[in-house]
Amino acid sequence: MTEPVEVSALPALDVASRIPKLRQKFTTAVETSGKSTADGADAIAPGPIDGLVVTKLEHLRYLFGFTGSAGLGWIGRDEAVLITDGRYRHQAAAELEAAGVSARLEISRTPRPIFAAAAEDACAEVVGLEAAHVSWQSATSYRGWFEGVDLAPTIGLVEGLRAVKDAGELARIEAAAKVADAALAEVRTLLVQGPTEAEVAQSLEQAMVAAGASGAAYDTIVASGPNGANPHARAGSRRIEAGDLVVIDVGAVVDGYRSDMTRTFSIGEPDDLSRRMLEVVTEAQAGGVEMVRAGVAAADVDKRCRDRIAEAGWAEAFEHGTGHGVGLDIHEAPSVNSRTQDVLLAGHVVTVEPGVYLAGHGGVRVEDLVVVTEAGARVLSQSPKDPVLAVG
Ligand code: ZN
Ligand code: ZN
Repeated sequence: MTEPVEVSALPALDVASRIPKLRQKFTTAVETSGKSTADGADAIAPGPIDGLVVTKLEHLRYLFGFTGSAGLGWIGRDEAVLITDGRYRHQAAAELEAAGVSARLEISRTPRPIFAAAAEDACAEVVGLEAAHVSWQSATSYRGWFEGVDLAPTIGLVEGLRAVKDAGELARIEAAAKVADAALAEVRTLLVQGPTEAEVAQSLEQAMVAAGASGAAYDTIVASGPNGANPHARAGSRRIEAGDLVVIDVGAVVDGYRSDMTRTFSIGEPDDLSRRMLEVVTEAQAGGVEMVRAGVAAADVDKRCRDRIAEAGWAEAFEHGTGHGVGLDIHEAPSVNSRTQDVLLAGHVVTVEPGVYLAGHGGVRVEDLVVVTEAGARVLSQSPKDPVLAVG
């Protein structure tokens, strides 16, 4: 086992620069409706905004360094306010201070007057609400909070910033990938001992925590035999047996940042069909990774994987997108699929994860987490791609 990850030894996050960068988008977000921005994520706002209401917890974490489970943020042109309740009084103050973020902390259970005053102080005419994260019901009540102010839906403002990772973020994602690698290395020997899928998933999650993760990045997938034909199968009570393909999709969380990786194993020698699936998907995946580079259209990476699988006659059996961004969320910008207009930028972290799923037989998916650089992909997932596990 490698030494457990020490978060304090990782490079610091550059939290303080983020609110100023977000403010720059209050005007540049205009008239980009429907088009991809330089960040690679769609940014839509019907006009310049004077302030933004932030409700999504990952955005509060990203912008303020605040890791509590309840809070709201105001980002005005000159002022930023973090509002949370008494449970987080000390934590929020300490986190703002540690991050060096210049923001006012308000401890209150009634944020309405705080927002109203902040909007008035800013002479705000238009306030943005994050359309992807505010329910219809909340949007309706916000109308009452901001009297005489226009509310405008914004899409992708914070997500676009989040898509490009700084050194501290990359270090955390890389550490999370290492933790998942270590867990898989430890648990792969268990696979030939007839465990249930759920036992394997639990062992992986325990190993990740022992290696310094705060937990699993998502419900670990262990899908054996015919269950593997369902791309998002949950780990269940099925016992893994000789002849199975086993899809294992596992990721860790380190200091809020996630990793995401899939390997497929064959328990004993694979039959001809399984062997061909493993070969085709492994090749398709390697082709996709090879295409990753700053400036490349993400849709072209998807096409490269999809074409190889189609060539093998399995176009219909690859029914999901090739990949997605990973960071504070397990699925975030940019998208890697056939419909996206996103362009890969240096500092993006994306997965490349084609698969083939055959009902009644099983599935194969191979997924690496990679950092986009000017020179190509820096692959974070280091688990070997040698799928055949000897039995007995
Ligand atoms: Zn995955
Ligand atoms: Zn994934």
